[in-house]
This record gives sequence, C-alpha cells and structure tokens, in this order.
Amino acid sequence: MSNVVEAIDVNKYFREPVEFHVLKDINLTIESGEFVSIIGPSGSGKSTLLYVLSSLDRDYEGSVHIDGTELKTLTNHKLSTLRNKSIGFIFQFHYLLSDFTALDNVMLPGLKLGELSHEELEEKAMEKLDLLGIADQAGKKINLMSGGQQQRVSVARALINEPRIIFCDEPTGNLDSENASIVFDMLKKLTRSFDQTILMVTHDDTYSSKTDRQIRMLDGRIEK
Ligand code: ADP
Ligand code: MG
Repeated sequence: MSNVVEAIDVNKYFREPVEFHVLKDINLTIESGEFVSIIGPSGSGKSTLLYVLSSLDRDYEGSVHIDGTELKTLTNHKLSTLRNKSIGFIFQFHYLLSDFTALDNVMLPGLKLGELSHEELEEKAMEKLDLLGIADQAGKKINLMSGGQQQRVSVARALINEPRIIFCDEPTGNLDSENASIVFDMLKKLTRSFDQTILMVTHDDTYSSKTDRQIRMLDGRIEK
C-alpha cells in the first residue's frame, strides 16, 4: 500500500462545553513521499484533524489508517510502538526537555523504542543534528539555545527513528522569518532527498504554496 495515511468518512464531535461537530466527513489520502500542507482559517479544525490523523486523538467516527493499520484497532502497546517507530511529531512549541542537552533530547525517542544500543543511537543522533546544521550544539542545554536552534533540535528528534511520516503543527509559527525559512527548507529537503512523507499544518501561505499539495479546511470540512 503506497498510502501512508488514509482517512475514510471521519467525523468528530467535542461534547464539552456544548456539542460541537468539529470534523465533518473527512476523506483523504497521503502518499509516500508527499509534502502536504493543511491550511485554512483559525478554528477551522486543522489541529484537530492533525491529531486524529497522527494517532494522538482516537476519539472519532470513521476510520484512519497509518500504513494500512486502522488506529482504533490497536492496543495501547501497539499504538505506542507505532508512534515511536513510524511517526515523528513537530509542534509550534517544541516540548523539548529544557534542562537536557540537544543530543539527549534527540536520542530520547530512540531510547524509548529500544532497538539500538546507546552508542548506535548517539551516532544516529549526531548524524541528524549534522543534517540540521547544528552538530556543534550537541552538548548544549536546550534552555541556552535560540528559538531557531531549538526548533531544529525538535526536527532532529522527530527524525531519530526514521519515521515513515512526520506530522507538524505550525512548525514555523513561533520563529522569526529567517529561522522559519531555515526550518521550512529543512523539511522540504527531507521530502526531496530522503523521500520523507510530511503533513504540515500552517497558516502561512509563503510556506503552504511551496508544498506539493494543499488541503484547505473550512468550518470542519475539506474544501473541494
Ligand atoms: P485550528 O487548528 O484550525 O485553529 P482547532 O482544530 O484547534 O482549529 O479547533 C477547531 C475548533 O474546535 C475550534 O472552534 C476550537 O475552539 C474547538 N476546539 C478545539 N479543541 C477543543 C476541545 N478540546 N474541546 C472543545 N472544543 C475544542
Ligand atoms: Mg491549530
């Protein structure tokens, strides 16, 4: 199956504070190697859709498949393996451990997966930091790094287990324009040079227009 992500007839409701139909009849497929952006006005359901597609939120109707597996059929154990192994996450706020070094942060999802030795992981983490142009910062604590460097660390962290797909929610949203274009160019390079699949929420047209395809959300629906 060359579809990395497939959503079929997905609907989602928030029950609180009042019932709210947040995702309406969502059907989509993302193919291997595609760089796709999700765009649309604030409140249109972009983040909610990303959380559903990326397995972080399994409270929906319909079905969502990653690599052919329906997420709701997975046990918690299998779900956590899928997340560690096949999925990378990048958010607007990086959620790095600020008291730890860049290298430790990048290695962490690899340690969780537990497939490589500490030594092998360290080597791999250095390779990812190098790819992001910050190998010289490996030993630095996160709270001593600039916002742009921190977000590059979070991209390296998302890559450590060489996931099939990376989900990003406003990855450039918290950065000045120079760092935003550095991070965006890195993501684009990943899809071009390594056939990485990326699904990115952004409200910034400068970047969405440079992706392979735009999915436009409006009021919980994908606009045709
Ligand atoms: P976007 O990312 O496009 O700005 P969101 O997916 O964050 O939109 O939100 C879509 C809508 O769902 C918004 O109206 C928001 O207020 C509402 N919403 C988001 N999260 C929750 C929640 N946990 N409970 C209730 N409503 C929510
Ligand atoms: Mg959002």
